[in-house]
Amino acid sequence: MTVLALLSGGLDSTWALWKQLSETHYPVTVLHVTLMDDRKRYIPERIASRQIVQWLEENVRPLKQYKEVVVDCSDLSSPLLDSAYVAPVAASMMLDDKTASTILMGSALDEEEHFIEQSINDGDRLFDELFKVLWRQGCGTCPSNVELRKIKIIHYAVDTYKAEMMRVMPQPLVDLTWSCRTPVWNREGPQICGVCFVCKYRGGK
Ligand SMILES: [Zn+2]
Repeated sequence: MTVLALLSGGLDSTWALWKQLSETHYPVTVLHVTLMDDRKRYIPERIASRQIVQWLEENVRPLKQYKEVVVDCSDLSSPLLDSAYVAPVAASMMLDDKTASTILMGSALDEEEHFIEQSINDGDRLFDELFKVLWRQGCGTCPSNVELRKIKIIHYAVDTYKAEMMRVMPQPLVDLTWSCRTPVWNREGPQICGVCFVCKYRGGK
């Protein structure tokens, strides 16, 4: 049973992946979707993902595969929730790997509460619904001898705050993550803004 772990480079997905690799022996494929838009957040996120994967392979255990897929959304006038771009990529990878049966996504209680307070659509639920539609549609186009596998989607750690993740996870791994939504650029490259809602939940670290 292969697990497809979605890694954004942020704290929540790193936490989910670290726990999965540390506590189970299932083969894990990691997917990082680079959402290329004008905000340039994808640059520090992609660097973070590569470094996190390298750290985990050296210090925990090797992955089955690390895959990056680029989605160019720079010409969209109104950007969608990240899940809208990631779900089709995940569905296509699950169709390609017949041994894959579980999708692992990071989540945190801080963000759940934030979305409820702001009445923002929940990206986790959007992912689940969109994936289901795409999966049925994709399987419908496969040869009829391909059976419709049951796929489990795990939103890991919806009950855990980011501060708790940062306290428990090895510090070098925490330091490699990138969560800031609105990076500020200077001569040394992207710096965290310290004021976006995720920076606040991380205590500006
Ligand atoms: Zn920030």
